[in-house]
Amino acid sequence: MQAAPDCIRWLQSLGVRFDFNDLKDLDLGREGGHSRARIVHHQDRTGWEVERALAAAVAAHPRITVYEHAFVTSLVIDSGRCVGVSARINDLGPREFVARATMLATGGCGKIYGHTTNPRVATGDGLGLALRVGLTVADMEFMQFHPTVLSHEQSGGFLITEAVRGAGATLRNHEGRRFMYDYDERRELAPRDIVARSIGRELHRLKTWCVYLDATHLPAERLHHEFPMIWDRLRELGIEMEKTWIPVVPAQHYSCGGIVTDLDGRTEMPGLYAAGEVASTGVHGANRLASNSLLEAMVFAKAAARASKDEPAPDAEAGVAAPEPECLPEPEAIRRRHALQRLMNAHCGIFRTDAGLREAQAGMAKLRREMEAAPKSGFSPYSFEAWNLLAAAESVAAGAIARRTNVGLHFNEDLAQSAGTESPEPGT
Ligand SMILES: Cc1cc2nc3c(=O)[nH]c(=O)nc-3n(C[C@H](O)[C@H](O)[C@H](O)COP(=O)(O)OP(=O)(O)OC[C@H]3O[C@@H](n4cnc5c(N)ncnc54)[C@H](O)[C@@H]3O)c2cc1C
Repeated sequence: MQAAPDCIRWLQSLGVRFDFNDLKDLDLGREGGHSRARIVHHQDRTGWEVERALAAAVAAHPRITVYEHAFVTSLVIDSGRCVGVSARINDLGPREFVARATMLATGGCGKIYGHTTNPRVATGDGLGLALRVGLTVADMEFMQFHPTVLSHEQSGGFLITEAVRGAGATLRNHEGRRFMYDYDERRELAPRDIVARSIGRELHRLKTWCVYLDATHLPAERLHHEFPMIWDRLRELGIEMEKTWIPVVPAQHYSCGGIVTDLDGRTEMPGLYAAGEVASTGVHGANRLASNSLLEAMVFAKAAARASKDEPAPDAEAGVAAPEPECLPEPEAIRRRHALQRLMNAHCGIFRTDAGLREAQAGMAKLRREMEAAPKSGFSPYSFEAWNLLAAAESVAAGAIARRTNVGLHFNEDLAQSAGTESPEPGT
């Protein structure tokens, strides 16, 4: 990514406080699959810091109007061109926004799974918007599972960043064995898909529910200084990371696939752009490397912003909102969302099979029929999201069925057995 250094400097100019080392150079971290240290960071909450500075810059910009609590429900289209969006705004009700260029930056779809690191809003809304107007969504089978998510009843998908392994923490099973030796010569710093699958195999082999991240050999001051958020959160749960192994399991983390765009973030629909996790720019291939996504979002959003200046002015009166699905009563939506998560957990996780994927597809088709036939009620974002989640999940299952090679984040046991691509047991 030649565009990366400029983006980092631009973020710094907007006030993002990346960490520096004793030599006053940017402090670079190393994570899974990296051959050298190259990750700028702010303690253990880089995303939070980037968001903080960007939100402040947006709030201070005289030509940007921010609508809080706005929920986009459809794209507004004029003769095949996107000319804006239709949205429900908490205080104002339904509104249409007409624009020369529209960008979808709605993030991921982690909530299609029951166990995810993603925030509550990661419900695939941009995917739903795009799929409803026939745009191409690609590579959804490349769903990244983060290997080390805290396994604790009260933790709700809390991520133990890969930088902890980068700092030297090791993975152990409950017998204390550093099992990554059995799976990959890069051990804890193998790419995420390999570490997550190795943990999955270890859990299956030992019939247990978690493995452990051992940072007890690292100096307590260093852990506290470099990972203050993790340090504090673990302490709230009674875990002292300098003394105790941290229980972890893999959980859904990032969607490499998304709405197909070109290198300027343009989708197939004129006037419509996509950037960030909702987009499929192709840079992550089948397997995103750790800490690449914020950078991807910045680089492609900037390219899109430049390209969008050439879009023609829209006819403010001509656009028509694309049809949108009706909302189910919330109790119905809750039931369907949970049913969908169960299907995804069971059949579209780290290990897949042909039969399981077909069962997932059949289950989703049944859910869609039920949702279409169910009585409808007034608008509710939670309920509306159920349609977007279903659309995103259908794309994952369809992509996984169609993908006949195990590559990166897609691993189908049936293909592994026929092609002999990966050992089913450690060390074999
Ligand atoms: C715990 C965690 C740690 C991570 N750490 C790193 C890291 O260190 N480095 C890295 O590179 N990546 C990291 N990632 C990945 C990275 O944070 C995400 O990929 C990235 O934030 C996605 O940015 P985005 O702008 O595409 O979407 P988001 O940041 O998710 O923003 C999407 C926004 O769209 C809004 N939205 C969604 N639907 C609608 C709708 N219908 N109407 C209106 N608004 C809508 C949402 O409310 C949200 O505000 C991490 C992810 C997680 C979950």
